[in-house]
Amino acid sequence: MDKTMNMQQNTNGVTRGSDAFDVVIVGSGFAGLFMLHELRKRGYSTKVFEAADEIGGTWNLNRYPGARCDIESMQYSYSFSDELQQDWHWSERFARQPEILRYLNHVADKFDLNKDIQLNTRVTSIVYNENQSKWTITTGHNDRVSAKYCVMATGCLSVARDPKIPGLDQFKGNIYRTTNWPKNDVSFIGRRVAVIGTGASGVQCIPMIAKQAAHLYVIQRTPNFVIPTDNKPVDVEYEKDWKSNYNQRRSQMLQSSGGIFYDYDDDTLRVNMTDRERFEIAWQRGGLSFFTAFKSRLNDNTIKQTITYLIHEKIREIVRDPVVAAALLPYDHLFGTKRPCVAGQYYDTFNLENVTLVDIRHTSIDKITEKGILIDDKLYEIDDLVLATGFDAVIGSLLNIDIHGRSKQTLREKWTIRPRTLLGIMIADFPNLFTITGPGSPINLSNMIPHIEENVKWIIKCIDYLNTHNIDSIEAKIDGQNAWMDHVDLVASQLSYSADSFAGNDSNILIKPSSCMRYAGGLHNYLNMCEKVTANGYEKFFLLKRSP
Ligand code: NAP
Repeated sequence: MDKTMNMQQNTNGVTRGSDAFDVVIVGSGFAGLFMLHELRKRGYSTKVFEAADEIGGTWNLNRYPGARCDIESMQYSYSFSDELQQDWHWSERFARQPEILRYLNHVADKFDLNKDIQLNTRVTSIVYNENQSKWTITTGHNDRVSAKYCVMATGCLSVARDPKIPGLDQFKGNIYRTTNWPKNDVSFIGRRVAVIGTGASGVQCIPMIAKQAAHLYVIQRTPNFVIPTDNKPVDVEYEKDWKSNYNQRRSQMLQSSGGIFYDYDDDTLRVNMTDRERFEIAWQRGGLSFFTAFKSRLNDNTIKQTITYLIHEKIREIVRDPVVAAALLPYDHLFGTKRPCVAGQYYDTFNLENVTLVDIRHTSIDKITEKGILIDDKLYEIDDLVLATGFDAVIGSLLNIDIHGRSKQTLREKWTIRPRTLLGIMIADFPNLFTITGPGSPINLSNMIPHIEENVKWIIKCIDYLNTHNIDSIEAKIDGQNAWMDHVDLVASQLSYSADSFAGNDSNILIKPSSCMRYAGGLHNYLNMCEKVTANGYEKFFLLKRSP
């Protein structure tokens, strides 16, 4: 039943009513919360739907042991409120998941956001009505609301991907997923555990589980580069320094490729340093700032080869068993052509007596049985299975919703060959529907928080523009969108970024993105291009005037 009622025109000419909103936002992670805050500040009626029973998005669901951000906390935080950034105290240089979730709840309380967020409500369909230039949003409870604009703040990492391994449902022990970890404490003390997956989540939970388990089997298909962290408590001086220089540093972050402020780079390191000396300093400092020791040369394959060689050497140095060390060496890509992982004590973990690396690069898991994992006729008997097998990243959360645009075309149909957007923000044939950090934007190749904040500001500016210029709808032009995606591919190929390094090999969804989903040219360049489009009166977009 269509519950839309009591329609009125507000001062912006946008329809309002108790079930009609100016804007509906899907998702209440970092993106959804900030979008809501900014829209409300400008007087737009806004409703947020959140499928989970708590706000926080990825940071609510990813509660696995060791879950932690690989960007420094002072930088992985909102910049929009100086009061917030001055008041909030981060306890560790790289925050753990519970602290990030506490931060998001603090933000929601401080800015009174919860009253406009409906939890436990999954959006199932979003349908565009061309005659009215409105979206109808339907939820799993069969609620139906309408909105002039829809903002998809659905997150890049919110749909879990189970591996397609026969017999997974036969296993009699516990199955845990890093992507959706239970809220209650999970103990592995005295238990035989296997972790499948050695991506960003796997490498963080493996050292933690190894501390408890009677035995841990690490099932590795593709080894990754794992940079250590220099994690430590945030000390008073460091915090004071950041808090007195926040404005300047935040703007430097926006002018950098990774959206990160570094207090050292290859210019501040001694000019006559050897690459090995530079590498040692960077390795000791750890974290993603590792890159900056070689910042000005990262487009050059020779330095990628050198860093690859030096990390291989490090792994051989740390891991005592040479066979295990050899199996841990990344072999299918050079350092810098795929996002590296960051975790403390990862390689040291393989020196523990209770840890076995099971390298399956030349084979595969035959099946899961009631008792464990069968690989090459050998049964690894376990009590608990941890799937660290990743997400239907970026597009999974959008394609899980039945989105119908102009002429009733579905997003799923439109993206059969590959996801296409203009700037990662809008999609041709889906007017007035915005995606925050959508495919074709830098996504996790940059610090997500400044990326999210800048996307939100772009959308706000756009909606304000439409309303002040009496424009009914905005929509990406097909040729503008195609040109953008060609540019995304070109940049990826210039930097040797692997096309499917993010999409994974076992996507649950039918489509296989055949090209790179992320803009690899740097946040600074991306934001300049977004700004240019706005400054040129939304070139590459159709703007349809409201009928008199
Ligand atoms: P992921 O990077 O996609 O890793 C999935 C892992 O599972 C890979 O090692 C993959 O191997 C393996 N796998 C999948 N199917 C398999 C199968 N059938 N048999 C054996 N192995 C299989 O997923 P993730 O670790 O959850 O990370 C996803 C993203 O989350 C990252 O890119 C990162 O942006 C983000 N993240 C960030 C942080 C942070 O610190 N900020 C922490 C965690 C996650 P293959 O490589 O061979 O496919």
